[in-house]
Amino acid sequence: TVYWSNTLDASTTYFRFEGEGQDAGRTSYYVHFLMTEEDMSSQLCKVAVIGAGAAGLCALRHLTSRQKEFQTVCFEQNSSVGGTWIYTEQKNVDSHGLPIHSSMYKNLRTNLPKEVMAFPDYPFSTYLKSFIRHEEVLDYLEGYASHYDLLKYIKEILPFLKKLQVRYCYDDFGSEDLDNLFETSVQRLHPISGENKTTWELTYNEVKNKSLTSMENFDAVIVCNGHYTLPLIPKIQGIEDFKGDIVHSHSYRHPEDFSGKVVLCLGAAASGQDISIDVAACAKQVYLCHRNKALETVLPQNVSQTPGIKYLTANQAVLENNEVLNIDVLLLCTGYRYYFPFLTEACKLHIEDERVTPLYKHLIHAEYPTLSFIGIPKTICPFPLFDIQIRFVLSALSGKMKLPTKEEMENDIKLDFEKRLNLGFPHRKAHHMGSLQWAYNDDLAEMSGEKPMPRVVQKLYDEVHRYRVLNVVTYKSLNYKLLDSENFTAVET
Ligand code: FAD
Repeated sequence: TVYWSNTLDASTTYFRFEGEGQDAGRTSYYVHFLMTEEDMSSQLCKVAVIGAGAAGLCALRHLTSRQKEFQTVCFEQNSSVGGTWIYTEQKNVDSHGLPIHSSMYKNLRTNLPKEVMAFPDYPFSTYLKSFIRHEEVLDYLEGYASHYDLLKYIKEILPFLKKLQVRYCYDDFGSEDLDNLFETSVQRLHPISGENKTTWELTYNEVKNKSLTSMENFDAVIVCNGHYTLPLIPKIQGIEDFKGDIVHSHSYRHPEDFSGKVVLCLGAAASGQDISIDVAACAKQVYLCHRNKALETVLPQNVSQTPGIKYLTANQAVLENNEVLNIDVLLLCTGYRYYFPFLTEACKLHIEDERVTPLYKHLIHAEYPTLSFIGIPKTICPFPLFDIQIRFVLSALSGKMKLPTKEEMENDIKLDFEKRLNLGFPHRKAHHMGSLQWAYNDDLAEMSGEKPMPRVVQKLYDEVHRYRVLNVVTYKSLNYKLLDSENFTAVET
């Protein structure tokens, strides 16, 4: 067990190590090391990044390339980087009792080609096909972290042990523990309002030893905790009477689990379309049940589209057209909820019917501009959008870009929401982008004086979308190549 001891003066920190088990009660070790000049510099803006998935890694990549302005610490509750791309067979909770974070399924291939998925300065390997497997995305993110040397900025359980190479201390913890050193979970984030500025008190603990809690203060916090973990379960009349299995896409792993069953797949957005086709390989019959306009695409012969559910009985779904279906499984592809369990009330972040406020440009807290949230927009090109959002946040933090006043930001948030309602979006789609994403990206780039997203990303994204609408089963067999920042071409593999 390691106990952080107090800092005795500006340049010295003491840590106390105590043995456990056989060694309990033996000598404590005191280690003394000097803080570097950089650690001591009060000039740097000290930034916490919560999460080391794609968004957190991208935040680290930009923050750490500006060492003269920012000092960065990232907190990641998992033992490795990659977030939702770390596939697991587990469902519900992991071995530490934490809710499973990843929503990946075994056969998942990306629904965007790698050519538009990539961060602008780090392409995927040219050897890969355009639509790649989830393992290949994880490889890419690990490669990104290693290329920009990012791992050393992620909080480790025992960083000083590694630094000091204290052999007898290594023995106390065992080699397995030393391989998995991140596992620090942010428990609480709280603003401390001072005379001139607000700082952030961040409390975290070790996943393996929850009682080992520490606290650090930061000038700014970039929240990158992911938004595809907490299932959104719709209210359906009679759902409590249904005797079949109810599975959310978050816990969907293999089609074999549904062999020979009649599956009603509720929701036909990206996950609903993809999972209904995946599960159809083993299920007897799949009903793709949704309220949108019918998809004009060829589907597997055992998949049929139906209107929405009116109510459920013990083993039937009664549809809005009064048709009655006998079903074994209700597979909910109904999306996810925004969730920030570590924010205290004082953070003043509100979530109502999937609208998160008050976020200027869906990103920066209007009242606390040093608090930002990456990846809130939905139906987007995630990695390139994260990259632009982060460069926008850093422009604001560094003072390169002056943010509008709180009132101006609040007004902008209100107008943006009204615009969406006028376009016919329901309230819960307050952060939906789709075709609005390109103007949004350009706006962020222009305001912050940063490089815009190359137009070829939009062109290829739109082309894939056009093709997918017509043939949702085969669109992933096509391959593309970017020719320059404006043009792409389809290629044979
Ligand atoms: P995540 O990857 O979820 O990472 C968040 C990280 O924060 C995790 O590592 C988590 O452990 C950590 N964390 C959370 N809370 C805490 C805490 N309290 N303390 C410390 N750490 C914490 N995008 C595409 O571009 N193409 C696709 O084809 C595609 N397919 C997808 C398919 C599925 C099934 C899903 C769910 C998503 C898909 N996406 C796709 C979108 C994907 O979510 C984004 O590409 C991106 O990976 C999200 O990254 P993120 O960093 O925001 O979140």
